[in-house]
Amino acid sequence: MLNVENLESWYDRSYIVQGISLRVGKGEIVSIIGRNGAGKTTTLRTIMGLVPKCKGVVTFDGSDNIIDEPTHTRFQRGLGFVPEERRIVPALTVRENLRLGLVSSDLKSKEDEIIEEIAVSFPRLKERLDQIAETMSGGEQQMLAIARALASDPKMIMLDEPSEGIMPVLVDEMFELFVRLKEQGKTILLVEQNVERALEVSDRAYILDQGIIVRESTGADLLADKEIQEKYCAV
Ligand code: ATP
Repeated sequence: MLNVENLESWYDRSYIVQGISLRVGKGEIVSIIGRNGAGKTTTLRTIMGLVPKCKGVVTFDGSDNIIDEPTHTRFQRGLGFVPEERRIVPALTVRENLRLGLVSSDLKSKEDEIIEEIAVSFPRLKERLDQIAETMSGGEQQMLAIARALASDPKMIMLDEPSEGIMPVLVDEMFELFVRLKEQGKTILLVEQNVERALEVSDRAYILDQGIIVRESTGADLLADKEIQEKYCAV
């Protein structure tokens, strides 16, 4: 579904993503893990078209190279993204935030139906549809950000450290959600600091270090390899 070849990107003169190749197959959960500053966030942002200085080949769902396409076109192709900083609208209710997820999609006419459907997958949000988003806990806001990204029914969703700073019970719910989404046929590319949890749910994972991929394997294989986890993933 997603193929990335020799991806490179820069912030001004800083060379961050240094020639990454990766792929995510339809229906897979794939993780990118690595220590702070390895370039994980920048990799996702580059795939999403949010880092202007970049080169390489990114194809998605049978497309030609989309490396020069604007972010909104990638979104319309069905590439969803939940950035680390969440970007929900704090002063709006949960329901209004979910509606925003549909604004630029052709599903807008089915708004109420879709919001009800999402509420089933997110019981915590179902109870809070009319609550102002900023009055919810950080974890609940993160759930909202994920639900909003799912509202437009993306073909693949990229999540940047969704479990960061969230209370353990919600982290559990979140990883259970990823497994359920996979069972429903969704495709997920996950960046996580919570390495063990990420590897447990991942079909495959890439370890990123200083802007390059140093290892690729199955989630189970990397989960068993404590040495490599200590070498490349210690925070
Ligand atoms: P973390 O887990 O800490 O978020 P990461 O693996 O996601 O780390 P990135 O956030 O991609 O890493 O950062 C990679 C490098 O790029 C770091 O050296 C960081 O300082 C630098 N960087 C990130 N964002 C910017 C920016 N907007 N402008 C300049 N440099 C940046």
